[in-house]
Amino acid sequence: SIMPATLSAISNGARKGILFKGGVHLENLSHLQAIAFDKTGTLTKGKPEVTDVIVREDITQEEFIYIVGSIESYSNHPLAQAITAYAKKNSPKPLQRPDQLDDKAGWGVKGNLHEKEYLVGKADFVGTDAAKLFGNGVAETFTNEGKTVVYVSDDAGIVGILSLKDVIRKETVEAIKQLQALHVQTIMITGDSERTAAAIAKQAAIGKYVAECLPETKVETVKNLKEEYNIVGMVGDGINDAPALATANVGIAMGEGTDVALETADVVLMKNDLVKIAEAIKLSKRMNKII
Ligand code: ADP
Ligand code: MG
Repeated sequence: SIMPATLSAISNGARKGILFKGGVHLENLSHLQAIAFDKTGTLTKGKPEVTDVIVREDITQEEFIYIVGSIESYSNHPLAQAITAYAKKNSPKPLQRPDQLDDKAGWGVKGNLHEKEYLVGKADFVGTDAAKLFGNGVAETFTNEGKTVVYVSDDAGIVGILSLKDVIRKETVEAIKQLQALHVQTIMITGDSERTAAAIAKQAAIGKYVAECLPETKVETVKNLKEEYNIVGMVGDGINDAPALATANVGIAMGEGTDVALETADVVLMKNDLVKIAEAIKLSKRMNKII
């Protein structure tokens, strides 16, 4: 049976916008030693915007935007949604349904348009060496600023790149500081590139990060953290985060996250306010004292 102190902590949490799916999660939170954060949509707002477009000499910006917009308009990925919105505004002709589409989670999208095949996604997806060389390494300047670069290739190599900017949430730095004050180690886990990850981790005041994670690497990382830190939390919002949320001792979902993340998590931050994590830990420690 549930203890009165636990019940009171759960209802206290609910008033603060922290949903606990059971007393055991409060118990785990009070012993939390490390917490991993997804980047996009968790530490950041998850609403990227296209800031730059750079194309190969044999194609116009307009044609490039039409092609990449047409292919991305059938993907649900936040980067795809941002690129589609940009293309709808800037393409000279209406976007077209590609003949063939293959959405590869954690990598990008493969699509056929007007009998040509394109790859749209991260450097490793389109070919790392070609991606590095494109435009004398122009992508580096964007990733160093914490922007995400999306590469587009055809059978002749890189056609062009788009750079997208996402901003960290206004409460992110405060939330991380409060966790550090509680002696909880913080780590960022992301599928994004090394440089982008480094820049965002710095903005968020997080010292440790793991970049270029596939969904299964996120799970591996949480498992490794559990060996090092014993009781570990994971905060995320995406479908890709769900396995890692399930692996952590305490899975925490952002309220505006995808259904799968909300269902898998043990705790939900109803208002997407990361500062509530430190509050939840304090609440759990008070509850433990009473018990
Ligand atoms: P994250 O952990 O950053 O939310 P994902 O695991 O969903 O990212 O994807 C990892 C990387 O793969 C992204 O940073 C992006 O570079 C690339 N990617 C995935 N899906 C797409 C897409 N539809 N369009 C462009 N790039 C994509
Ligand atoms: Mg995310």
